[in-house]
Amino acid sequence: MRDPFSYLRHLEGLTVNDGIYDFLPHWQKDSALHKFIRFIADEILMDDTDGPTRVPFGSDPLYPDWILPVDAAMLQYGIIDEPLFFIPDESAPERTPGGGGDSSESGDPYCVVNACYDYLLNLRWTQAYEDLMSRITDEVFYVMFLNRRALASLNQFLARYAGEVTTDGFDADEASLMDLFVRDGELKRVRPPMWARRAVFYRDRGRCTTCGTDLSGLIDTLNVGNYDHMMPLAGGGLNDVTNLQLLCENCNSKKSDKVEEPSNRYRRWY
Ligand SMILES: [Zn+2]
Repeated sequence: MRDPFSYLRHLEGLTVNDGIYDFLPHWQKDSALHKFIRFIADEILMDDTDGPTRVPFGSDPLYPDWILPVDAAMLQYGIIDEPLFFIPDESAPERTPGGGGDSSESGDPYCVVNACYDYLLNLRWTQAYEDLMSRITDEVFYVMFLNRRALASLNQFLARYAGEVTTDGFDADEASLMDLFVRDGELKRVRPPMWARRAVFYRDRGRCTTCGTDLSGLIDTLNVGNYDHMMPLAGGGLNDVTNLQLLCENCNSKKSDKVEEPSNRYRRWY
């Protein structure tokens, strides 16, 4: 856990083919972290390159049916009541409920992989899969949003790509993106909306994340909170709720446009 984002290096899929453009519009409630979690969850659930991962299902522990992790996850969240797909037994006829089709070739490991692959590809277009993604995203976001260092790593990664966006690279239908920039690689400063400020204020418990000064206005009305971009806009940082931290005026002016690792001091719950 020292480097929770070590696999970020392999995340080019998130930003390839102008994927970074999705991250540029300011203050999306579907934040950079939401997109990141969804990307990873989708990758993991769709990853069957080494053959399907099998999860036992059924009441008989000796002879269980085998289902895919994605079905196990949908069952666990109560999105489905019964598995949608059983992994065909390599030595028995396929038993896809309502599947039908060309199931005659089962018994061949290659066909088992194909059957899983077909199922997964179709599943991705269903509401059930959409529901699963939003449940996973909400759950992981809830935990990760608390960890400013992880958020800073993610935003640092994305800033490398956002900082290389040139406005003359946009197609005609991407003209609205041009207005988001002050210059190539630098997004305009847009004041965070109330929901983003509230989220960050409560997460950081109304205190400067660097020096701990109370910014609630209850104890000292002179202390003003600043919503600092951990990755500065000038360095390709995004106007994203996951790129904000609460700083007092003093710490904010000391930091100004520098990139500093956010404090890893977390207040105790009790
Ligand atoms: Zn401070």
